[in-house]
Amino acid sequence: MDAIDERKYLRLNRFPTIWCPGCGIGIVLGAIIRAVARLGLDKDEVAMVSGIGCSSRMVGYVDFNTIHATHGRALAFATGLKLARPEMRVIVVMGDGDALAIGGNHFIQAARRNIDLTAIVINNSIYGMTGGQYAPTTPRGATATTAPYGNLEPPFDIPALAASAGAPFVARSTVYHAIELDRFIERGLRKKGFSVIEVLSDCPVFYGALNEMGSAVDMLRWYRDNTISVREAGKGEGKLVRGVLVDRDLPEYTEGYQRLVESLRGKGEG
Ligand code: SF4
Ligand code: MG
Repeated sequence: MDAIDERKYLRLNRFPTIWCPGCGIGIVLGAIIRAVARLGLDKDEVAMVSGIGCSSRMVGYVDFNTIHATHGRALAFATGLKLARPEMRVIVVMGDGDALAIGGNHFIQAARRNIDLTAIVINNSIYGMTGGQYAPTTPRGATATTAPYGNLEPPFDIPALAASAGAPFVARSTVYHAIELDRFIERGLRKKGFSVIEVLSDCPVFYGALNEMGSAVDMLRWYRDNTISVREAGKGEGKLVRGVLVDRDLPEYTEGYQRLVESLRGKGEG
């Protein structure tokens, strides 16, 4: 098979991106493009839906079908799209605040419903676009512009939340582990059902600066040194576990919906 030119999935005339130098979001964009290319998908077979935030600007740079929706509502728009066009691969890109604060209810309902979407949660532990406010993912004790003396609240564990709400595929990686990340996204895209991939991503401008984590490169090193593959999880006390954490088969919503519509049509009720 000929190598696929990955640039065909990008709107190159929109580059350079708005992201700050050193921001991890571009690495996630690269991983998504490699995953889509490996699956050999035509760009018209793919839709990307986002909400509001730095990472949600990604839809402007990809030449798929795209929707830049309202804050926290990317999964609601994506659900409607998937039901209308079930053959389409739908990738939903969300920041941590967008996915789990404003959109938290949509997130758990989409997981419970098990609708065939690939949800990529880019977790930089803070609200980037609006100026560094703490989010439901900010670690306890970390500093944010709205938590100058340290955040009092515990963060969500995104994979645990997704799994307990019913998602059949849940993975976690980081922007340091870019090659691993695109494999996880590829597996999420192959999975029939609601797939969640959490990506720990650096925001050197707000989270990194407010928490004295050094440069973007230092933050990438932090991901290297403070996470561990699920295969070695027993050896890394206190480290965040990366890997495919859940992969199970559960009934998928779109297929059930189509079967219901067809059976009602067969009875003359559709
Ligand atoms: Fe990235 Fe943070 Fe800049 Fe937003 S504010 S583009 S998350 S570095
Ligand atoms: Mg964020």
